[in-house]
Amino acid sequence: MPDLFTVVIIKILTNTFIAFTLNRLGVGSILINLFLKDENMKIAFMIGLLFSISTVKANIVAESFYIKNTDPSYFRLLKSRPELTIDHVEKNGFEIYGPKGLGKFLTTNNIPHFSMKIASLSAVRGYPSPEETATELKSVTDMYPDLAQMVSIGKSVKGRDLWVVKLSKNVKVNDDRPEFKYIANMHGDEIVGRELMMRLIKDLLANYGKDPVITNLLDRAQIYIMPSMNPDGAAAVTRGNAKNVDLNRDFPDYTTSDNKDVTTGRAPETAAVMNWQKGHNFVLSANFHGGAEVANYPWDAIAEKFPNEDYIKELCLEYATLAPYIGASTAFDNGITNGFAWYKVNGGMQDWSIRYRKDLQITIEVSNTKWPDYSKIDYYYAQNKLAMLKFMERAIP
Ligand SMILES: [Zn+2]
Repeated sequence: MPDLFTVVIIKILTNTFIAFTLNRLGVGSILINLFLKDENMKIAFMIGLLFSISTVKANIVAESFYIKNTDPSYFRLLKSRPELTIDHVEKNGFEIYGPKGLGKFLTTNNIPHFSMKIASLSAVRGYPSPEETATELKSVTDMYPDLAQMVSIGKSVKGRDLWVVKLSKNVKVNDDRPEFKYIANMHGDEIVGRELMMRLIKDLLANYGKDPVITNLLDRAQIYIMPSMNPDGAAAVTRGNAKNVDLNRDFPDYTTSDNKDVTTGRAPETAAVMNWQKGHNFVLSANFHGGAEVANYPWDAIAEKFPNEDYIKELCLEYATLAPYIGASTAFDNGITNGFAWYKVNGGMQDWSIRYRKDLQITIEVSNTKWPDYSKIDYYYAQNKLAMLKFMERAIP
């Protein structure tokens, strides 16, 4: 007959195992609240949680909500959940993403939450579809065969091509001129970046040989622009890809156990960018997001100071100053922020690019509203154009 101590230990271990397994499956959140009535179970669950923190990859974004900062305990509780992703933390609240069941979990825990779905289809209307975007890209690049080349670097979950446009004098020749890149719309519901890229491509091509800044850029650098890394998400107006994977939590991260620079187990969109980047030597890049207005510098995953922090801050400051609405931010000092100081991101593209590919990258959040009325796009382009050109120039020694 085992003594009481042994019984308790066995019970705790068993419960830990159950809690851990449920937690890994992403359903723990609901069940735990239903079943964890006694303290032993709660302790066991906490232990299970500790074990699982380093192994659960928080990149499933099947459900999304906005939480208002009415009670600081909400943030603490949600931050402790390894399967959840917190994003765009601001004074009034934050976004929360997670697997199916997140909404029920929030309800069970009495956390007030608001849907982030685009309120009406009329907001979506007016924007080109991914197919229309690709057609337009093709007709524009076809007009300038010596300056523009359109290449598919892979396919999305739903089989859509992932288009990249190279812009440069003698575009078909790959030479020693520095390589630069912009990537936008990796979060499908953050659409402004894609539209900025489409306008930028057209501007660069139409004004080569006319505008000295643009001519110099295309003469002296090899510019690559990927308007949409997540066309499936753009089509469905979702953050994740067609399998609800958050592409900006899907890259290798040296600070976690998912640190191998291999594409196995990653979304096809992530794998495409990783493979593409192998064949290039990008010296500078930026990736465009929405939901805030700020230029974000590394690191995102760790508090450690970036080795070249003065320089990267200067680049962000320059961007924010030249994009006046970002520089005038009331939420961020001068419209810039360190990534980690804002909120921690694991598996992000920015840190991966720098750490694994020596490609200096910043993250630019271009609009507080992720999917604004289409008529606002020209305003955003006018506000960002100079900043985007100047940032590209920084790739030229
Ligand atoms: Zn984003």
